[in-house]
Amino acid sequence: MKILLVGAGLSGAVIGRHLAEAGHDITIVDARDHVGGNCHTMRDGDSGVMVHVYGPHIFHTDDEEVWDYVNGFARFRPYRNRVKTTSRGQVFSLPVNLHTINQFFGTTMRPDEARAFITQQQADTSITDPQTFEEQALRFVGRDLYEAFFKGYTMKQWGCHPSELPASILKRLPVRFNYDDNYFFHRFQGMPEHGYSAMIANILDHTNINVLLETVFDRSQGEDYDHVFYSGPLDGYFRYELGRLGYRTLDFERFTYTGDYQGCAVMNYADADVPYTRITEHKHFSPWETHEGSVLYREYSRAAAPDDIPYYPIRMVGEKDLLGRYVARAKATKGVSFVGRLGTYRYLDMDVTIREALDCARAYLAHGQAGTQMPVFSAPPL
Ligand SMILES: Cc1cc2nc3c(=O)[nH]c(=O)nc-3n(C[C@H](O)[C@H](O)[C@H](O)COP(=O)(O)OP(=O)(O)OC[C@H]3O[C@@H](n4cnc5c(N)ncnc54)[C@H](O)[C@@H]3O)c2cc1C
Repeated sequence: MKILLVGAGLSGAVIGRHLAEAGHDITIVDARDHVGGNCHTMRDGDSGVMVHVYGPHIFHTDDEEVWDYVNGFARFRPYRNRVKTTSRGQVFSLPVNLHTINQFFGTTMRPDEARAFITQQQADTSITDPQTFEEQALRFVGRDLYEAFFKGYTMKQWGCHPSELPASILKRLPVRFNYDDNYFFHRFQGMPEHGYSAMIANILDHTNINVLLETVFDRSQGEDYDHVFYSGPLDGYFRYELGRLGYRTLDFERFTYTGDYQGCAVMNYADADVPYTRITEHKHFSPWETHEGSVLYREYSRAAAPDDIPYYPIRMVGEKDLLGRYVARAKATKGVSFVGRLGTYRYLDMDVTIREALDCARAYLAHGQAGTQMPVFSAPPL
């Protein structure tokens, strides 16, 4: 079969590779001048630092098949994501853990004491059925921690008050009563030694795959192919005819430094009056390398305008309604599968993206063998 994939990010690369290995003839187009999608990494010409061009990416997963998969295309170096936050003139450890709590309250509580203190003296137990992010935070951590660590950051990240956001955004109990400051819980965590773009270029390195960069997909192109896998924006496929799905975009203010600017990869800024959400110092993502120069991003979040890069789907009530209408349109199309974070309008970590891409490619092969119709969505957006 002649198959077209739109997007040379993880979704397109993984599906393309799987189908190429099954003998299909694969063309991948991407509007950008590089492969890797939003995971793209590139060495800075002056300092040699590996830069995460579209924001910091840490690979973490519990999915052993996915972990084996990525290790087949890149050497992964051990990496633990340890994030700090600056709040009211002090630096604290994140996620909020026993160190954060003891430092914040000036105490030396042990785990059981801290749990009792937070749940009995801080948490607002009058809130029985939290509906909003704010209520959820007040219910589980109380006003002091909420205002110091959650409120300002969330307002900057989402551009609205936490009382307007659904409770589901905040995990059930967003604090740890021990000193574990590893940001992720997953068994496998690491960083590809030569960056994500090198890994994705290796995935794409197959004789049956032809990659065309700086090539914008147009729906009419699909007619030359037996099937299209589309990892671009769902609403973009339909030329935004019903309106635009809401996204947050990020502005990165790049600056350089000689030496070590902040001593860690990611420093959040929790106070509402600091306009940026965090500063990323890229060289700390490659702790096995030594660089005198340093490249940093100050990160600002705002609502995406039509020409901005869409980063985080908003998925509030209004968007879900519009999404439903685009999904109905998509389901009426033939010969196209919508995949990935933009094609299904969901936030997807890299490991989930790879898992879904592998499942999607396998489903395509199975449907081909059975002579049945490949569904428009293997992972439903709603
Ligand atoms: C700021 C940020 C930080 C993140 N950090 C992490 C992290 O730490 N860990 C983690 O696991 N995940 C992280 N992620 C998620 C990760 O970026 C995604 O899982 C991954 O990028 C999804 O891959 P994709 O191929 O589906 O989409 P993308 O990477 O967005 O690729 C889609 C590609 O399609 C191309 N395209 C779109 N439309 C067209 C068109 N019409 N014509 C041609 N080409 C087109 C685009 O140029 C793009 O290259 C983060 C995401 C963001 C936004």
